[in-house]
Amino acid sequence: MTTTHDVINPATEERLTSVELVGVEETDEAIAHAVAAGPAWRELAPADRGRLLRRFSDVVDDHLEELAQLEVANAGHTIGNARWEAGNVRDVLAYYSAAPERLLGQQIPVAGGLDVTFKEPLGVVSVIVPWNFPMPIAGWGFAPALAAGNTVVLKPAELTPLTAIRLGELALDAGIPEGVFTVLPGKGSVVGERFVTHPDVRKVCFTGSTAVGQGIMRKAADQLKRVTLELGGKSANIVFDDADLDAAAAAAPMSFLDNAGQDCCARTRILVQRGVFDAFMERFESAIKDVRVGDPGDEQTQMGPLVSSGQRDTVRGFVEDAEGSVDVAFRGSAPEGAGYWYPPTVVLPGGTTDRVWQDEIFGPVVGVMPFDDEADAIAKANDTAYGLSGSIWTRDVGRAIRVSRGVEAGNLSVNSHSSVRYSTPFGGFKSSGIGRELGPDALDAFTEVKNVFISTES
Ligand code: NAD
Repeated sequence: MTTTHDVINPATEERLTSVELVGVEETDEAIAHAVAAGPAWRELAPADRGRLLRRFSDVVDDHLEELAQLEVANAGHTIGNARWEAGNVRDVLAYYSAAPERLLGQQIPVAGGLDVTFKEPLGVVSVIVPWNFPMPIAGWGFAPALAAGNTVVLKPAELTPLTAIRLGELALDAGIPEGVFTVLPGKGSVVGERFVTHPDVRKVCFTGSTAVGQGIMRKAADQLKRVTLELGGKSANIVFDDADLDAAAAAAPMSFLDNAGQDCCARTRILVQRGVFDAFMERFESAIKDVRVGDPGDEQTQMGPLVSSGQRDTVRGFVEDAEGSVDVAFRGSAPEGAGYWYPPTVVLPGGTTDRVWQDEIFGPVVGVMPFDDEADAIAKANDTAYGLSGSIWTRDVGRAIRVSRGVEAGNLSVNSHSSVRYSTPFGGFKSSGIGRELGPDALDAFTEVKNVFISTES
């Protein structure tokens, strides 16, 4: 049975369109098509598979502005971010278009023959995408999966399906054969679940909440299905007393306000060395007041709305809880009226067990806490179930390296807040996930190693 879902513009609360959600039957049909399309795709000459992915990248580039505007309307992303996101899909496709011709195996010295390894595609790979970065997260899954010779079925999040649907159409325009890459808008409990339970789907590449990821891993065990899980985060931004304090304070707002804080890499716990705590907070407050929150289509806007009223309720629940126990240090501004707005909010947790300090809020809220020395900074940074990203601000190179090695997280940056580059690996420690995406090794997550021995003695 087909149902529909109204897609809402989060900056205006107006209905943009409605999308048909596919059911189990259509999902099974799409998986059958993906199975059928598999042999021709994997047997395509590597240079031809690469050429098709390059063409797909070019077609995305030709539609960059259209895709970006669609994301502004559907997800409330600022136009600057949305252009970067569409450009990221283009770049990830271009990067992995070189992979089919470089999917190298090994030749291993053995007695009595020749031993070689092949990296074989898995078959049908499923990609399950959350609503916070609909385009990039889709591309990080489908581009390397296709490059490695798999066919792909992809489910966007219910709230933000529009750019993924368009990417599915653009793939066909670029000449990617039918059935090789299929986008299936639908519910997690229907389409997502079916990806996990269908025996012909050999891998689930999931990005989303830790709870859903754990459920997927449990169910995937029944078929020993491969999983990559990119989950939540509660990353630390550690500011030492020898840091360039002006630079650290100026960069801190967008380290947790980018995408209105709906970013798994958001630095939502700021740790400041005690001696410079007040000096940092003074600079940080003025930087927060300067953040431009408003119409995401305006080129000057730095932060747009939250994705839905439900998400805003969740964020409010962390700060304006019944007991009023959360100490708000200061706030930025946000528009009034229609739209799911929430102002940048800086809180001072009472202790490290506070909910605002431990749980992923996924909104424009940050906690700030002092620390005493290097050991205390590392201990406080690691005092979380998560381990995705983090930042270290210091002028001492040795300390930067020691602390980078000490923090249990997959993506760290020194004197900056960068986490994601398509050419470098991305993923989490601990409850932030399993596996890595992007970078030169991503193909390993979409292939099995096959060893072949050829006797030279018969
Ligand atoms: P979510 O886990 O609710 O949903 C993510 C996707 O999974 C959606 O497409 C949803 O439809 C689908 N889904 C839901 N239930 C499912 C099920 N039972 N089986 C299969 N699929 C199912 O998360 P969300 O609310 O969309 O996204 C926010 C969360 O994602 C945050 O916790 C955030 O930290 C995390 N996230 C992590 C990363 C990362 O790279 N580590 C990136 C983005 C978002």
